[in-house]
Amino acid sequence: MSRMDDFLMTQLQGANVVPLAMALVNLTGDESVLGRIKPYVKGAWDHLEKVPDELAREIRCQMCQVLSTRQQGGVMDITGQGSMSSDLLQRMMSVSVGEVVDESYVHMLAQHMGLTLATPEDQLEPTEMPPKRKQRLSAIVVGAGASGLCAAIKLQKAGLDVKILEKNDQVGGTWFENVYPGCAVDTPNHFYQYSFEPNNDWPNYFSKRDSIQDYLLKCAQKYYLLEKTYFHHEVLSASYDEEMATWGVTARNVTGESIAFRANFLVFAVGQLNRPMTPEINGLSEFDGQVVHTAQWPRELSVTGKKVALLGTGASAIQVGPAIAEKVKDLYVLQRSGSWISRRPNIDREVSNEKKWVLNNVPFYAAWYRFQLFWAFGDGLFEALKIDRQWQGGAESINPLNAAIRQKMIAYLSSELGDRRDLIEKVTPKYPPFGKRVLGDPGWYQMLRRSNVSLETEPIEAFDRHGVTLKGGKHLALDLLICATGFRATEMLWPMQVTGANGVNLHQQWSIDGPRAYLGITVPNFPNLFILFGPNTNLGHGGSAIFLAECQMRHVMSAINHVIRTSQSSVMCTQEAHDAYNQSIDSKLSELSWSHPSVSTWYKNAEGRIVTNQPWKLVEYWHLTHGIKVEDYLFS
Ligand code: NAP
Repeated sequence: MSRMDDFLMTQLQGANVVPLAMALVNLTGDESVLGRIKPYVKGAWDHLEKVPDELAREIRCQMCQVLSTRQQGGVMDITGQGSMSSDLLQRMMSVSVGEVVDESYVHMLAQHMGLTLATPEDQLEPTEMPPKRKQRLSAIVVGAGASGLCAAIKLQKAGLDVKILEKNDQVGGTWFENVYPGCAVDTPNHFYQYSFEPNNDWPNYFSKRDSIQDYLLKCAQKYYLLEKTYFHHEVLSASYDEEMATWGVTARNVTGESIAFRANFLVFAVGQLNRPMTPEINGLSEFDGQVVHTAQWPRELSVTGKKVALLGTGASAIQVGPAIAEKVKDLYVLQRSGSWISRRPNIDREVSNEKKWVLNNVPFYAAWYRFQLFWAFGDGLFEALKIDRQWQGGAESINPLNAAIRQKMIAYLSSELGDRRDLIEKVTPKYPPFGKRVLGDPGWYQMLRRSNVSLETEPIEAFDRHGVTLKGGKHLALDLLICATGFRATEMLWPMQVTGANGVNLHQQWSIDGPRAYLGITVPNFPNLFILFGPNTNLGHGGSAIFLAECQMRHVMSAINHVIRTSQSSVMCTQEAHDAYNQSIDSKLSELSWSHPSVSTWYKNAEGRIVTNQPWKLVEYWHLTHGIKVEDYLFS
């Protein structure tokens, strides 16, 4: 072997065999490897990849040869390069995740993987807007988090004059605000990123908050968005001028002044999880110690040697707990109901230099790797959420797959808790898996075994100056209470005042049974207004909020595109389309795990309606939002 081949073979050790084999098919057009690896692929997770060493080595050698030929500028058969039939793409997807992938995924995944389909009828619809209109249209985006940046990038690319109004002094939204110890993404990063801005150099498979913030900041810089962002401008109100077909927006700046802005289109990208919720607890105002919400963590806060109570056991709690347990004197976990927490392979692992090299240098590898993550953390899980009305397996699961996942998670927590059998029943949730978000374990169960940690399941009686008393009478002396208690998620766009056509107030319109929108994006009586991550859009089975933002912006651009092409001034969904859509989601939601009687979550509002989550698979939402149906909208 030449020195170059030696080098390539060393780097290729960093590759997972399945995506490497798929990339080989793309590069050579030779499909024979599909049949050879098929018997060994039992799922999308890389630990389910059981390709024998000899075959794996053969695939690496073939790839080495292909890369080496390319390196030397040689000619090779590139018939399959980047262009393929839908049928082949579907077969490759199915082999790569070890199950049949429906044809409805073909176009969505081709787009997200940056692959081109071969025949003209397979070509994807153009999503870019023709910059034809003479008068330059404008848009205001509220929020510079992951969704807001996506919105600004797409609007700007289409030629609109864009301004972003942001209450913080930096971009990043959730990732800027949340700096609590242990804060990290629990969706794999190579999927949790913009499809149009792939980063092949993530330091971890599940990167820490700083890396994600850095990525978003770099994206904002690359697209010149920092200079278009009004930082420290908190939007107070927005109101639609029917005559001008524009939105007037008022924001409060850093000195407390009210500043007015105006634009043709208004996009709210403030997320569902940006207003922290600190519960009202008897006597808490008497407490002499410090009270901190995870989303408002003071950067200078030291927990070393402190007696700490951690209220909550959701996604934030299970990250902050293990990150501080070693430093604190005592850690009392105050649990109201446990969370389902599963083993997450790679959660702490760094990405090797070889893997980064492969992601950066082997054509198509990153796209196939992303697809596997998409499947393992997305639609591959959806069947587990469906309530089977005939299910006889008891109230703690909802269908056979759900029951199997429950057993697997119980086996995992039992093995993690080891000799602490006393904890098993306490941590095991009383509701079915996927009743609430299933969390990836960053060391929660190991933390519970520590001698300075205790899990308290008695409800809180009251706080006093020195600490908290639990219902059974036990008193805990405390220096610090950490509220990992979530957000005011159901109060969307709160506390902003939004007034649409005919003076209709948005919160008034939503007062009947909570926020509703067509596709979670547009609302009758509110022309030229778009909401990202709006009502009934949160994903409960997996997937990524960035994927959602991209789906939603594709829809928004399709609507704006139509306004421009038809020389109109405004667009608004019809009441009929809105009502029919909402009827369909209510009905579908009633069949899913969150509607199970044993589940109480922040997904539901005071009326008991699920207002945050969507009932769709990712592929369904992609198709629903792909472009507008003109008949569902009114243009004027
Ligand atoms: P959360 O999931 O809403 O969890 C809040 C926790 O506080 C729950 O355990 C809840 O108990 C408890 N709680 C709330 N009010 C209480 C009260 N009055 N008394 C006792 N306990 C109370 O909030 P979160 O952990 O901040 O997560 C919110 C969402 O943020 C997540 O679902 C996720 O979408 C996102 N997030 C993501 C990541 C990530 O990707 N890594 C990290 C953090 C957050 P009950 O369960 O009994 O209601």
